[in-house]
Amino acid sequence: MTDSSDHTDIPREADAPRGEPRFKRVLLKISGEALMGDKAYGIDLETADRIALEVADAVNRGVEMCLVIGGGNIFRGLSAAAKGMERASADYMGMLATVMNALGMQNALENRDLETRVLSAIPMDTIAEPYIRRRAMRHMEKGRVVIFAGGTGNPFFTTDTAAALRAAEMGCDALLKGTQVDGVYDADPKTSPDAVRFDELDYLEVLSRDLRVMDASAVSLMRENDIPIVVFSIRDRGCLSRVLSGQGACTIIKNMPGEGGSK
Ligand code: UDP
Repeated sequence: MTDSSDHTDIPREADAPRGEPRFKRVLLKISGEALMGDKAYGIDLETADRIALEVADAVNRGVEMCLVIGGGNIFRGLSAAAKGMERASADYMGMLATVMNALGMQNALENRDLETRVLSAIPMDTIAEPYIRRRAMRHMEKGRVVIFAGGTGNPFFTTDTAAALRAAEMGCDALLKGTQVDGVYDADPKTSPDAVRFDELDYLEVLSRDLRVMDASAVSLMRENDIPIVVFSIRDRGCLSRVLSGQGACTIIKNMPGEGGSK
């Protein structure tokens, strides 16, 4: 378990100024499953609206926001490949699923009066702008919420890696991973009641202990670019705002000199 002293300049609960977000520009990654709500498949519009409300709070506090949404609520390449489908084709179907989620989320955000743009890694001119890094930056500077669709545009990757890639390209201060649990635990909190949540972790510890917060490639990319990953629960009202204020339960994964990989 890590100690909770800060080794980098990320303010935690005690020293984060109230009202002032601790990150200026963030990428929020949510899985496709987070959009399902209690349904077994697809998009639950009420859940999408709830997440949109969280994003609207952040934007109204002056945070520049971009989003990557997974596709697992609709199609997962790996599962189809396991049943005999060619992996690359299955992955392209998975990437198309992320475009559907992006459009669903765009609609939810616009219902909350946010200006949005969907930029797709797979050119799809009639429904989304093509991904062009400088254009995406410009949108964000103008306060628009940018949704990156189509993953990385390449099979054999995941939307976690797409999120890390875009966070690095956009120069984000943090990658926020909204999940169903409020951080990273030393065991599965659903099955182990004694599981303990980490306040902070080093990237290398995540990799060496195989904690499966995100893909190894995504964690490595964040480590190389020194962008913290904040894992928090996206389920409760106000969750994103609390994380941005340095309040609320979460796990911060970052470079902690002297700690990486030693445990
Ligand atoms: N995918 C891909 N390349 C990418 C991103 C996604 O091939 O860069 C495919 C892959 O098949 C994956 C699917 O899209 O299973 C949905 O993404 P993911 O599983 O990451 O979604 P999540 O688990 O976050 O809902």
